[in-house]
Amino acid sequence: MKQSFLFTKTLKDAPKDETSLNAQTLIRAGFIDKVGAGIYTFLPLGLRVMDKILKVIREEVNSTGAQEVLMPALLPREVWETTGRWENFDALFKLTGSDSREYALGATHEEIVTPLAKKYIFSYRELPLSIYQIQTKFRNEKRAKAGLIRGREFLMKDQYSFHVSQEDLDEYYEKVKAAYYRIYERLGLGEITYLTYASGGAFSKYSHEFQTVTAAGEDHIYVCDHCKVAINREIIDEQNACPVCGNTELREDKAIEVGNIFKLGTRFSTPCNLKFTTAEGNSEEVVMGCYGIGPSRLLGTIVEIFHDEKGLKWPKEIAPFQVHLLSLKSDEEAEKLYNRLVDAGVEVLFDDRDVSAGEKFADADLLGIPERIVVSAKTLAEDSVELKLRGQEAAEKIKIEAYVQRFI
Ligand code: ATP
Ligand code: MG
Repeated sequence: MKQSFLFTKTLKDAPKDETSLNAQTLIRAGFIDKVGAGIYTFLPLGLRVMDKILKVIREEVNSTGAQEVLMPALLPREVWETTGRWENFDALFKLTGSDSREYALGATHEEIVTPLAKKYIFSYRELPLSIYQIQTKFRNEKRAKAGLIRGREFLMKDQYSFHVSQEDLDEYYEKVKAAYYRIYERLGLGEITYLTYASGGAFSKYSHEFQTVTAAGEDHIYVCDHCKVAINREIIDEQNACPVCGNTELREDKAIEVGNIFKLGTRFSTPCNLKFTTAEGNSEEVVMGCYGIGPSRLLGTIVEIFHDEKGLKWPKEIAPFQVHLLSLKSDEEAEKLYNRLVDAGVEVLFDDRDVSAGEKFADADLLGIPERIVVSAKTLAEDSVELKLRGQEAAEKIKIEAYVQRFI
């Protein structure tokens, strides 16, 4: 893409109405725009990153055998009444339709997916079943001051699984857990994301959160450095030793909950009357699990971790472009190179704008594309480009042919 084509521009200063680093930096760089507290527009660059995060999530979640659907966001009051959550889910956005009926904007979808599954599950033959969606969720969060980390409107991958027994759920739960590890690994967060034990509700001792350690975190966790697991502060009174090895020397840290997995048991099958017939002809309740990930929160988390004072530093797999080509008054040659790279399937952002070299360099650092190459009269005199990786100080000269060959 040519940068002159982008309708968004970078900003010199951080927006004053935004206090979180992730949103400030993304707004300055033209990835998102703020509409209100916890409400953001994804601009072309931000959407490219989001699409890549979603691609990673879809690939890994599909590999567990889950099927994707898209449920509505506008949910009649009656479905929430079946579980008592019209009153008990405190962050629900509620509204009244022109027919005087009441609705809530979807904050989570157990109340929709369980009756949906009931239409297709009759016997053990239909089980197990795993359904997920990637959808906009709405929650009336009290404090929406952490940018993309706590939206009032945000993206969620929510997934629900249905099983004949607790054992079958346990087995699938481990599969999803493994898929989550792979997701965080591919997003560059593997090293600093901990499986965290949290309270589990009526059906299991624990639920599990995935917590990414950063000073920007709103959660407190206690990490066992031997086992690379953690405990959420909310359960530390009941459980003050590592649940894996019993170590009591835990390290406190701040972290962001980037996902969680939960054994629901029959919490929703009971009120929704979701049963199946066993091979012996008996009727039993379906056992459920649920698995959430926040893709927009992940994007914000990645920014909190991968940045420096000059701007963003995207991990390769989710960078909006792989190469940022800067042309310093040698547009024709630069355009030739741009076309060759695009033909080779490289995602290139081509800074063809008529602005100073200083501005191009500063914007390249702000946008944070992993590889920057510069074409100028000086480099062309040696049939070369100057290559610099974001985050490294030193640039190297490389012959144009050799550079293009790397992608072919
Ligand atoms: P938190 O404790 O941070 O409010 P939660 O326990 O309410 O999170 P879930 O209801 O389990 O979260 O939602 C599943 C996932 O959706 C979370 O792990 C998180 O990644 C993401 N998420 C939840 N709330 C938000 C939000 N307000 N903004 C962005 N992402 C969110
Ligand atoms: Mg919440």
